[in-house]
Amino acid sequence: RLEPSKWAEQVVKQDEIDKYLVKGKDFIDEEAIHEKLLNNKKPDKKFIRDIIQKSLSITRLEPDETAALLNVEDEELWEEMYEAANEVKHKVYDNRIVFFAPLYCSNLCVNSCIYCGFRKENPEEKRRILNMEEIRRETEAVIDEGHKRMIVVYGEHPLSDVDYMADSIKAVYSVKKKGKNGYGNIRRVNVNAAPMSIADLHKLWEVGIGTYQVFQETYNHELYKKLHPAGPKANYLWRLYSLHRALDAGIDDVAIGALFGLYDWRFEVMGLMYHTIDLERQFGGVGPHTISFPRMTPAIGSDFSTQSKYLVNDDDFKKLVTVLRLSVPYTGLIVTARERPEVRREAIKVGCTQMDASTKIDIGGYSEAPNMQRQDKQQFMLGDTRKLDDVIRELAQEGMITSFCTAGYRCGRTGDKIMCLLRNCTEGKFCKLNAVLTFREYLDDYASEETKIVGEQLILKEIEEIKSMPFYKQHNLIEKFDEYYERISDGERDVYL
Ligand code: SAM
Ligand code: SF4
Repeated sequence: RLEPSKWAEQVVKQDEIDKYLVKGKDFIDEEAIHEKLLNNKKPDKKFIRDIIQKSLSITRLEPDETAALLNVEDEELWEEMYEAANEVKHKVYDNRIVFFAPLYCSNLCVNSCIYCGFRKENPEEKRRILNMEEIRRETEAVIDEGHKRMIVVYGEHPLSDVDYMADSIKAVYSVKKKGKNGYGNIRRVNVNAAPMSIADLHKLWEVGIGTYQVFQETYNHELYKKLHPAGPKANYLWRLYSLHRALDAGIDDVAIGALFGLYDWRFEVMGLMYHTIDLERQFGGVGPHTISFPRMTPAIGSDFSTQSKYLVNDDDFKKLVTVLRLSVPYTGLIVTARERPEVRREAIKVGCTQMDASTKIDIGGYSEAPNMQRQDKQQFMLGDTRKLDDVIRELAQEGMITSFCTAGYRCGRTGDKIMCLLRNCTEGKFCKLNAVLTFREYLDDYASEETKIVGEQLILKEIEEIKSMPFYKQHNLIEKFDEYYERISDGERDVYL
């Protein structure tokens, strides 16, 4: 293997950037973004209400419309927007929340991102890369919580290169672990890793990943350079087009994000919009499968989280989630355990569709230190350390059902097919059935007694709804659903529609 700095030098492939530029330019025109934000100051109430109606018809907004929403000052209008965001989410995703668990496999890194505990210059970080045995052990601990989806996360380093990633993903998929009534396993592995070449991304596709996720951190070119002074990550464009390459490599679902707190939040929302639009433009309408908006969180060995003048407060965080929900109605929105429980509750009310719980981000933490955060082995500190079971119960009390469904991607409902189904609100119909089936598994295998009580009531209500909806009758899905539900109740696992 090459020594890390030599290896880092050869990561970026210029021809795999040039391929996507238009007349030598990328799609983030900062002047145009600032202009749009300026031109849409003090937007007219009627204009905002028209935009809300457009979102409610599940149509992606245009940048001027997003800029207008971002400029709303009237709190009453914001209240209308919160309500509409919730309605949009219900139209596309109904009352479901999808759960996942992150698995940090390695904190070795050749980069120098000044806000991250993993950056190579940080002496306070204890470095570790999990071996395959340890990955299997971590996976067992995650399965024991009831999870079915995982996102594997890596620093950028030759020791955690794409071959290591592929092996670790295979290791995760190989684990089957007995629950109370049936076995549990991880059925979808998503990846959050540094930008790669098309050939390397194809290797990830070959091992069957779900979504490939890369956050641009900031869409501001100059600031990006300052915050990422060295390593392959210093190249803004290599990162900006990482998801274009992923789609070209055959990966169906890609996920974008920005790290909020680095620069003006309104600008970053606009950046996410332009990213969405360019993906749609270059890939036949396929936009991001999910959008993330991690907020700057304290990290060991970095005081950036207190120094940055762009830190986003809780109110503005809720606003940015709302604008994203209204701007890209068909896309999943992820709120992670970086956020405190009360912030996550609000984020769900304005349109988030996915979250993690029972989260451990210290390397090896699920199996070695389940009840504490080991600061010197993790990237940043978590705001919500609640157990999955507690979060599921809380949501169920509010009438929301947890879904561990991974059927969409295994039935080929990905990429352009899922975009189409989401846009016409059909995907949600399949998800409703699969949510109930996977929730049944959770209640039978992992739920506490308290959660079971609330969960059983919710599941009955869901089944009643399913039986009363004409869509399922028209498509002869009820008999099949009944049969699958019974098979799961009898201990069979992983049957889906
Ligand atoms: N190394 C890869 C990369 O940078 O793309 C992937 C893993 S990195 C651990 C995942 C994400 O964590 C980064 O993209 C960044 O947005 C986020 N992150 C880094 N430092 C953070 C901090 N202090 N608070 C919150 N999120 C942070
Ligand atoms: Fe490394 Fe990613 Fe952290 Fe940057 S954000 S230091 S690339 S792990």
